[in-house]
Amino acid sequence: MEDPVIVITRYLVLKKLVNDTTTLLAIKDYYVDGLSPSTIGYKYKISKFRVRGYIQRITDKTRNHLIATNIIRRVFPSIMNIEPVVIKVSNKYLCLLCDQTFSTELMAENHLKKKHKDLLNNVVNQIVQSIRKQVS
Ligand SMILES: [Zn+2]
Repeated sequence: MEDPVIVITRYLVLKKLVNDTTTLLAIKDYYVDGLSPSTIGYKYKISKFRVRGYIQRITDKTRNHLIATNIIRRVFPSIMNIEPVVIKVSNKYLCLLCDQTFSTELMAENHLKKKHKDLLNNVVNQIVQSIRKQVS
């Protein structure tokens, strides 16, 4: 199994790069602040099932709530400082790095994973290294 710190960081970095702040805040509210999926859903006007979906993605990557909570708490401030490279323009997702547009956020995420892999890996590595330095 891949290092959960890297896997979770990559997931959160990708969400920030496509400017999906709602998902990031929902994940933080659940793991760091301990809010329930229905409270989070109400707060961001999304269904609690969608919130549970985000949580499931994180749980699948660690299989341990405490580990996930610790990782998210430590990486979250750095994640929120990342500038998005995909923005939503008239219901399309525009990649600012290459001017391609996508009809869904998932397509934009897959585009970043494929075409801007180096940028994604660099950002992830920087954050992972910085939190590892804090610990040692
Ligand atoms: Zn691009």
